Amino acid sequence: MAMRILVTGGAGFLGSHLCDRLVAQGHDVLCLDNLFTSQKSNIVHLLDHHNFEFIRHDVIDPYKAEVDQIYNFACPAAPGHYQYNPIKTIKTSVMGAMNMLGLAKRVGARVLHASTSEVYGDPEVHPQTEDYRGCVNPIGIRACYDEGKRAAETLMFDYHRQHSVDVRVVRIFNTYGPRMHPYDGRVVSNFIRQAVQGEPITIYGDGSQTRSFCYCDDLLDAMMAMMNGPDDFHGPVNIGNPGEFTIRELGELVVDIAGGGSELVEARPLPADDPLQRKPDISLARRQLGWEPKISLREGLERTIAWFKSADMSQYRPPTPNY
Ligand code: NAD
Ligand code: UDP
Repeated sequence: MAMRILVTGGAGFLGSHLCDRLVAQGHDVLCLDNLFTSQKSNIVHLLDHHNFEFIRHDVIDPYKAEVDQIYNFACPAAPGHYQYNPIKTIKTSVMGAMNMLGLAKRVGARVLHASTSEVYGDPEVHPQTEDYRGCVNPIGIRACYDEGKRAAETLMFDYHRQHSVDVRVVRIFNTYGPRMHPYDGRVVSNFIRQAVQGEPITIYGDGSQTRSFCYCDDLLDAMMAMMNGPDDFHGPVNIGNPGEFTIRELGELVVDIAGGGSELVEARPLPADDPLQRKPDISLARRQLGWEPKISLREGLERTIAWFKSADMSQYRPPTPNY
């Protein structure tokens, strides 16, 4: 059945892929975004569809619409950009969540919140399970994002308990793919942009820190399964690819696939509070959603590098100087 679906952050990397899928399924899609870390080119192909609408709006201000489902994705996701204006970042997470929950309560919509593995901070439990409460520095430079996302999770479950709002919380682990902003500053987009342009690959620290990388298509399968899944399953649920790689291994793989022979250089010290390890335990997602990722890191990087090679990078404006 066709539904009215609001996607906040809908012009971003993940949001725009989600809008593609929802429009293709025939839903009436409202894409709300302030274009802070994205640009209209991600959704330009959707603008002429009768069942797609773009709304330029900031989620820290209330928004009203008659909708059945809300995917709350609006928030800068790359450390450099979310640290540029940290007060705005925490407002976006917390006030954005409140505004979407207020809307969900008024119109009886189901709301799915894009939370993050950053709620675990620099984890002492490895791999991370959903019942681990995390190790976040509440006054550090990542706190605007980490604590903002933690408070948003709190709001989700308080609105659920107090007002019976139907919430879904997904903790996303590092996800990559086509349409990542080339000046996003995250490791995958930086390494690919650098490799494609024949520049040195900038490793922070000695490159022994680890991450687990999920291809966007796999992630979106899980997000939609969660939104439309069992009535009594609200999460939080980890979604990510449990394959674990050092940042140096990622750099070597990107250069191997992209060609061009870029060198790996230790460009700067590890940033403050940068997690040393990260890997999701996805047993709960397997059990509750019947989901697991299908796309290997090599295959996902091949697709992403092909997109970066075809993109006109001169058309992208860096959202902030921090990339
Ligand atoms: P992105 O930066 O491409 O998308 C975020 C979108 O939100 C952008 O289009 C941006 O313009 C918009 N936005 C930012 N602040 C806003 C505001 N105040 N009002 C309205 N729109 C605003 O990043 P993404 O990777 O697509 O991330 C989407 C969501 O998933 C974010 O909430 C992010 O925290 C979460 N997430 C992503 C990852 C990942 O690895 N990609 C990991 C964990 C969590
Ligand atoms: N990183 C790096 N070089 C870069 C960008 C990032 O070595 O050009 C490192 C960063 O310090 C971190 C890891 O790669 O250890 C992942 O960083 P990213 O910003 O993608 O996301 P995070 O998981 O830290 O939020």
